[in-house]
Amino acid sequence: MLAEIIAVGSELLTPYRQDTNSLYLTAGLNELGVTVAFKTIVGDQREHLASSVEIALTRADIVLLSGGLGPTEDDLTRECVAQALHLPLERDQLLLDELQQRFSARNLQMTENNRRQADHIHGSTILPNRNGSAPGQWLEVTFNGRRRLVALLPGPPAELQPIFDSECKPRLAAALPPNHLARRQLRMTLIPESHVDARSAPIYKRFSDVQTTILAGNAEIQLHFSCVKPTLAEAEARVEAVADAVSREMGDDVFSWSGESLEEVVLLMLGVRHHTLAVAESCTGGLIGQRLTSIPNSSRVFLGGAIAYSNRSKTALADVPSYLIDEHGTVSEAVARALAEGIRRRIGSSLALSVTGIAGPGTPGGRDAQKPVGLVYLALTDGKETQVKELNIHGSRERIRLWAAQHALEMLRRRLL
Ligand code: AMP
Ligand code: MG
Repeated sequence: MLAEIIAVGSELLTPYRQDTNSLYLTAGLNELGVTVAFKTIVGDQREHLASSVEIALTRADIVLLSGGLGPTEDDLTRECVAQALHLPLERDQLLLDELQQRFSARNLQMTENNRRQADHIHGSTILPNRNGSAPGQWLEVTFNGRRRLVALLPGPPAELQPIFDSECKPRLAAALPPNHLARRQLRMTLIPESHVDARSAPIYKRFSDVQTTILAGNAEIQLHFSCVKPTLAEAEARVEAVADAVSREMGDDVFSWSGESLEEVVLLMLGVRHHTLAVAESCTGGLIGQRLTSIPNSSRVFLGGAIAYSNRSKTALADVPSYLIDEHGTVSEAVARALAEGIRRRIGSSLALSVTGIAGPGTPGGRDAQKPVGLVYLALTDGKETQVKELNIHGSRERIRLWAAQHALEMLRRRLL
């Protein structure tokens, strides 16, 4: 069974509004084992909408429409679907009475265009909307000899979501063969997507009944596996098998097997090994601390640290000797080392992590003037031994900071393995 989602609304074709309804609907359809084959975003123009509906009915078994059910002139979904199906629109007296009551209760005058919200396509089931005035509609029709399931849903997410969940999903489930979806996710970081694919593709391609997707972004690579089977146990066994096989190949490069973030994994590992952590962050300005503290209960292992941004604060907050800065520059192996060691002593943690780097744009002064933007030093110390890592990260200021924080967390994870 293939589905198409049509998001209706001219605002969705501007830079200011995004279609999020289709994401919600896709998640629900996938759970029922339905693949979304097409998504269309179309403005509030009669001929564009009518042709989009016709195309969708030609190529998809299930067509879900969102938006265009309001009372205004540009709300054309009802008319266009009726036209494409060659079915008449009928005004529903019960709905009209309900609308009238809504307006009276709010002391508002019901205008003629509001009445259009009581129009429904001949043969459709009305899907009540408890959170707004425009109800949805459900249709089971034949189009060019093929069976089609069609839903018209209101645009506001707070209205669409409950109607889809309570009215459409049970109807879809009843019309479809029993299907269960299982998903697994493997997460890796700081390795090229092409390497991940080269190593994992020969394995996941052997599982023809499992759908595999590689997602790359924000310094992460994610492998998503999903499988639809008549029972949940069968579907889970399949994604489990492919995830296990790929994990064996990728080894320690995989940091997460069930969707945990890198910071969650690092905190977990610190806890298991009875470590505590402090950080001294210069160019990342607190990004590492922010990520660690976004996890509940992180205070058990993450003790705190300093945003040691200026040279003075590096000395004041982490005891970095000023002669080191004068001699080597702020962005140097020596300063990274002193920052980590200093913050560990100050905070009294078992481990400490530091970052100093040039996020750019433009070059800093003093000893660092000749150093390139993107040069970053990380240090990790346990008080006895200090590891230092030099990085050259390319890209924008934002990217350099994000990748520096990611490298720091990954350095810590590798140390804790
Ligand atoms: P409509 O049903 O077309 O009158 O849509 C009403 C409101 O719902 C719009 O102004 C948007 O704010 C919101 N909306 C419509 N379509 C979508 C969509 N695809 N994703 C998210 N919000 C939407
Ligand atoms: Mg609209």
